[in-house]
Amino acid sequence: MDIVGVLVLLLVCVFTAADGWRGLSSASSPRVCVVGGGPAGFYTAQQLLKARQDALVDIYERLPVPFGLVRFGVAPDHPEVKNVINTFTQTAHHERCSFHGNVNVGRDVSVEELRQAYHAVVLSNGAEANRPMGIPGENLSGVFAAKDFVGWYNGIPANKELCPDLSCETAVILGQGNVALDVARILLSPLDMLKATDITQHALNALAGSGVRRVLIVGRRGPLQIACTIKELRELGNLPNTRPELLLGDLEGIEETLKDLPRPRKRLTELLLKAVNGGDNKAEKSWSFRFCRSPVEVLAGADGKRAAGIRLALNKLEGSGENVRAVPTDQLEDVNCGLIISSIGYKSILIDPAVPFDPRRSVVPNDMGRVQDAPGLYCSGWVKRGPTGVIATTMNDSFDTAHVILQDMESGLLDLSIKKPGAQAISGLLQTRGVRTVLFSEWEKINAEEERRGKPHGKPREKLLDVEEMLQIAWSSRIMDILTFLVLLLVCVFTAADGVRTVLFSEWEKINAEEERRGKPHGKPREKLLDVEEMLQIGWS
Ligand code: FAD
Ligand code: NAP
Repeated sequence: MDIVGVLVLLLVCVFTAADGWRGLSSASSPRVCVVGGGPAGFYTAQQLLKARQDALVDIYERLPVPFGLVRFGVAPDHPEVKNVINTFTQTAHHERCSFHGNVNVGRDVSVEELRQAYHAVVLSNGAEANRPMGIPGENLSGVFAAKDFVGWYNGIPANKELCPDLSCETAVILGQGNVALDVARILLSPLDMLKATDITQHALNALAGSGVRRVLIVGRRGPLQIACTIKELRELGNLPNTRPELLLGDLEGIEETLKDLPRPRKRLTELLLKAVNGGDNKAEKSWSFRFCRSPVEVLAGADGKRAAGIRLALNKLEGSGENVRAVPTDQLEDVNCGLIISSIGYKSILIDPAVPFDPRRSVVPNDMGRVQDAPGLYCSGWVKRGPTGVIATTMNDSFDTAHVILQDMESGLLDLSIKKPGAQAISGLLQTRGVRTVLFSEWEKINAEEERRGKPHGKPREKLLDVEEMLQIAWSSRIMDILTFLVLLLVCVFTAADGVRTVLFSEWEKINAEEERRGKPHGKPREKLLDVEEMLQIGWS
């Protein structure tokens, strides 16, 4: 009996270490999985868990690390925006939620397999590509998509080798949205403003040697259509040692339109007008907006390989207000520059050929989050509505999708009487394919290591850039868990063989209860005991 007890204990221990207790929940619960661990994925999960006490939610994330663009997009000098991570962490710690990192849906497991295993599958995989400019010379060296440039300074593993050459004096950014302004600010900020952020060290080193002194932010439409927001424009205007170089002619006649503009647009336009008149003439760096210009060709330097400039078509505007259209004229303008960053928007990609996809809009075609012609399949976030909107927009949109799923559960459109295996089935599939997942507790190991590495430099973290290294750190914890349990097993076996006292399963349950009690104040499912002596003491108490 004692040996049986020990074996059961071992099985429980290994199971706990490998998959967490959450997988043991009732098989008749609604099981939902979310593809993508960014804001859309976490907000959808949060709402489902809150609204249904029996729902089990699994989040599958391609990378070993969670949070999508909150980690890899939001500018390093906007730490307050990243506070949403605390809410996402609470969701991940929820007893009915599991995070499975390092799972590339579409490659490691198909969406159809997920649909078989879950009552509902939510695609929240964001927008991981960039809109191409579609002009000659786009692939010359010195031309970057903002997505990659941002990924480089924010630590996306795939962008760690980008190494942009920042030796030129003039950089041109195409597009006048908030991403364009983030990039301009990073290029122009004094190093001291970035040093204490989570910007990658390699980006910091490159920026320290940067020769960029002038940044032109080029838009295809006019000053009344810029896509950035007030806070971001104000931040650019307030950069030390940097002056705006706006041309008064570009803003001609604008002042008179102010009174008719909606409030946010009015405020934005007032800031532009203020920038024309402001600025410290002694400043060494400058930024400027160029309006009514579309890129037509990247001009190569003498070697034919590196960008040396950009040719722009001058546009005339047709229509009025926000719906104004840019129509190119035959007038062209060449601008000399050594760095070109195309910031004309992100783009979702098709992750699985079986998923409906609108190639023109690059979104999953859907009706309020219900994917068209695919019962049980839903979408939220940027893959649902396109690559625009701040985190709050994504939150509302994800709550909407969750409400639709809940409605479909209530109405019987989703048949909950069919039992679904959920993560158990998918874990089995992944195992046979040699895919090992990263649990949320294992991400927390990576998190702790990043924070540890950042500390000596006064940074909140130094992001790990290498997926292999992330995995090594994540899984070292699992190996330690299993080792701890093996030690426990050895103690038990030794004890059983020697006629000394054994730990019965009911005694393990006391240890279990104590671990759960200790975890509770920290919002964790358990705080594992690490000391065998202490385990025995509690087991036998
Ligand atoms: P994402 O955040 O992109 O999350 C998608 C997730 O899905 C990612 O984790 C990705 O790895 C995962 N995934 C992709 N493919 C797969 C797959 N095949 N299998 C499994 N997982 C997959 N908003 C603000 O409010 N404030 C800001 O300061 C701000 N700054 C921004 C800066 C930049 C550069 C950008 C681009 C956006 C910024 N935003 C900001 C907007 C905000 O980031 C978005 O609204 C939000 O991230 C969209 O959430 P999402 O979950 O749809 O996409
Ligand atoms: P965006 O706001 O949509 O801006 C895209 C810019 O590219 C616009 O100026 C657009 O001009 C231009 N553009 C698009 N297609 C073009 C083309 N073919 N040729 C020339 N120009 C073209 O996108 P984004 O800057 O990538 O930002 C994405 C979302 O994330 C936005 O909602 C943004 O607010 C959010 N975000 C927020 C923050 C923040 O809150 N701090 C930071 C970054 C991003 P038109 O207007 O003429 O189309």
